[in-house]
Amino acid sequence: MECENYNLTRDMERENLNLNPLQRGGILPEAAREALYDFGDGYSVCDYCAGRLDEINKPSINNFLGDLAKFIDSDLVRTVHGAREGKFTVINKICNPGDSVVIDSNAHYTTYIACERAGVEIIEVPSTDDNEKKITMDNYKKTLEKSIDELGEIKLALLTHVDGDYGNLTDAKKFGKICKDLGVVSLLNCAYSMGRLPIKANEWELDFVVGSGHKSMAASGPIGVLGMKSEWEEIILNRSPKYPKKEVEMLGCTSRGAPIATLMASLPYVIERVNNWDSEVQKSRKFVKELEKIDGIRQIGENPTKHDLVRFNTPILHEIGLKHQRKGFYLYEELKSRKITGIKRGQTEWFKCSTYGMTDKQRTYIVDSFKEIVEKLS
Ligand SMILES: *Cc1c(COP(=O)(O)O)cnc(C)c1O
Repeated sequence: MECENYNLTRDMERENLNLNPLQRGGILPEAAREALYDFGDGYSVCDYCAGRLDEINKPSINNFLGDLAKFIDSDLVRTVHGAREGKFTVINKICNPGDSVVIDSNAHYTTYIACERAGVEIIEVPSTDDNEKKITMDNYKKTLEKSIDELGEIKLALLTHVDGDYGNLTDAKKFGKICKDLGVVSLLNCAYSMGRLPIKANEWELDFVVGSGHKSMAASGPIGVLGMKSEWEEIILNRSPKYPKKEVEMLGCTSRGAPIATLMASLPYVIERVNNWDSEVQKSRKFVKELEKIDGIRQIGENPTKHDLVRFNTPILHEIGLKHQRKGFYLYEELKSRKITGIKRGQTEWFKCSTYGMTDKQRTYIVDSFKEIVEKLS
């Protein structure tokens, strides 16, 4: 049988400025590209395994997991295949089917699906009824207390640290305290934060945190991070009676090749870049201010923003599309001709984007391009 070449070429990051927020935190530094080459083969981290992935010392996965735990101020970490698998593992072990969990209404779709797979009911904390769509800890506390009153018990509460729709940053420390005071197990979803900004799981009194290597930790992935307090070790990391070295929830071994090798190679780089978070936020705010100078472009979500993912309502871009012969596709095409990508084809009423890690010059070029397109076509 013959196969076609599956169109397997990509120059997106080499040739363009990519505004897709999903991809900006997952770009590999040089060291990770080398690790990807060396560990690209299947089961490549298993050369010196004695039965426990987390105890392998060549490459030094055991030391890496210790460093990673320190990095997020957590007692204990395991790698999983993504933030979603981390969430599912926790929900599945802490809850029984039919239980209710409380989540914020800005939660990612994978939170809903992880709940569905675990067979638990969802109670949502509403966001503010304005353009900011914030999840306030007052609202969280009210919903959680009300749910406990009505149902007698809530075992688990989830909060999205930074959501993927508005880039709103929630108050993780207050969340940890609210849950602790009410006797509810807490899980913070750090897919858009761990690897970008400092995470302090223990300081924030959180039982569980999950992160995403391919989203925010400069890893090829798929790989996620699950951090927990040591008191959960026996429950989450219980061993198989038949294979006493193997952790059942991890199905024995989780990430075992390039995904973990790239995450390991990137950790020093990620530890360093988190120190520059404040400056990234300032740059993101400046970018918003500049784009908002265009009449008909307005940021929605928390303002001023506390993250690099920002969302805009763009009625002016929509109006242009109504009259343009290429309809809504003009925007994508105008940007693409300027080597700017990452905004969905055909979409003009709103967009979300990120300039995380870009230089000042690149950001200015992007703003100028939008200005030029609007001036030319409106
Ligand atoms: C991207 C994202 C996820 C999914 O992360 P995976 O590691 O791909 O599972 C989960 N939650 C939020 C808030 C996200 O933005």
